[in-house]
Amino acid sequence: MLIIKRLKQHLPVTHLTAVIICTVIIALTAMLMPSQDAPASVLNATSTSAQPLPLKTSTADSTSTLSQQQIQQQPQQQAYPQSPDVWQDFTVRQGDTLTSIFKRAGLSSREAFLVSTAVKDTEALKRIYPGQTLSFVINDQQLYKLKHIRNQLNSSLIIASEQGYEVKEIEKQPDIQPRFIQGSIENSLFLDASRAGLSDRMIMELAAIFGWDIDFVLDLRQGDHFNLVYEERFLDNQKIGEGNILSAQFVNQGQSYTAIRYTDSQGNSRYYTPQGDSMRKAFLRSPVDFARISSSFKTRRKHPVLGLTRAHKGTDYAARTGTPIKASGDGKIIWRGKKGGYGNCVIVQHGGNITTLYAHMSNYRKGQKNGSRVQQGDVIGYVGQTGLASGPHLHYEFRVNGVHKNPQTVKLPHASPINKAERGHFFSVAEQSLAQLEAYKATQLASLSD
Ligand SMILES: [Zn+2]
Repeated sequence: MLIIKRLKQHLPVTHLTAVIICTVIIALTAMLMPSQDAPASVLNATSTSAQPLPLKTSTADSTSTLSQQQIQQQPQQQAYPQSPDVWQDFTVRQGDTLTSIFKRAGLSSREAFLVSTAVKDTEALKRIYPGQTLSFVINDQQLYKLKHIRNQLNSSLIIASEQGYEVKEIEKQPDIQPRFIQGSIENSLFLDASRAGLSDRMIMELAAIFGWDIDFVLDLRQGDHFNLVYEERFLDNQKIGEGNILSAQFVNQGQSYTAIRYTDSQGNSRYYTPQGDSMRKAFLRSPVDFARISSSFKTRRKHPVLGLTRAHKGTDYAARTGTPIKASGDGKIIWRGKKGGYGNCVIVQHGGNITTLYAHMSNYRKGQKNGSRVQQGDVIGYVGQTGLASGPHLHYEFRVNGVHKNPQTVKLPHASPINKAERGHFFSVAEQSLAQLEAYKATQLASLSD
């Protein structure tokens, strides 16, 4: 979608699904002002009575039942309009400004100016996209209310009052429910995890959590399995998205890894082993993203370039030309150029006399040079077949004191373990998370054996 820049008074506009917005906003308003004992006004979001409507008006749908109950509890806030609110929706078009939409709504450019001034330092009307909806309540050709829903959880309501325009930010809190998923690898992480019910985003997060221990490009095997508990977010009983992975296990070639999400007293969330070691390590197992490698591991294992090429002191990742290559750890580029059979090659110097080498690149990452500092995960170049290479692939080497190590098996030190002061709290969180995970696994097992 196109983001339209906000010009001072010429606010470009957008739109949304009218009905839901209307009911939601009114319901939200009701929740915002719960205290006064004033008699309930007979607001009706779906009313079509009152005035002639220049554009479509919201019509009833299934979401209105709940909202209307809430609407009836809404106290009369404003002294002036006593009639029921009639919401009119205007769709933001390409090239619209706040003024042009106000014009369509029958309002003056002066009013558009006053509103844009009133919302200046707020989130309201800050970014408006074509296709969104702005909803107005207009009484006697005067703007009474204007609402702009930015997303399912956040909206702004602008209300005319005797003091000018008031802006209310409305934030809905989703219900969060845990969800358990388990699966085993038959073809590839992507295929099998999505078959098990995980979204692409969750698969990427799962792989990121274990990416320091497991090389998802090369080391996945048939029979590997995983299970995890993650958050699902609901709004009015409708799933609106996913939250975080709370706990996860991955069994790779018989080796089991467990990760627990922990948020410390500073509010930082990280994944730890049940013993309190960070899942993060100084080096990623794989400098290419498994998701970029299209074939499944079964076929990849047979790939002639992949084969068992580790004997030649590096690991080869067959991948399409142009696939981004990431620095596996923090460090400094100490070589960036042609280097014999390696072709275009980057060498990164890390702490502890460790260097990593990336060969056969088609291109280097723009903006970096010899001496540049890079962080773990930074792209440093792109897969190619320069130098001695039978096909496009990344040749990756890991050396300690100049001696080659197998990057797949070299022991990597854990990054910072859990803070001493946090240990007590961490272990109680970890215990609960693990108990939850085990309980789900047991339930699943029981249902399978029924
Ligand atoms: Zn190689």
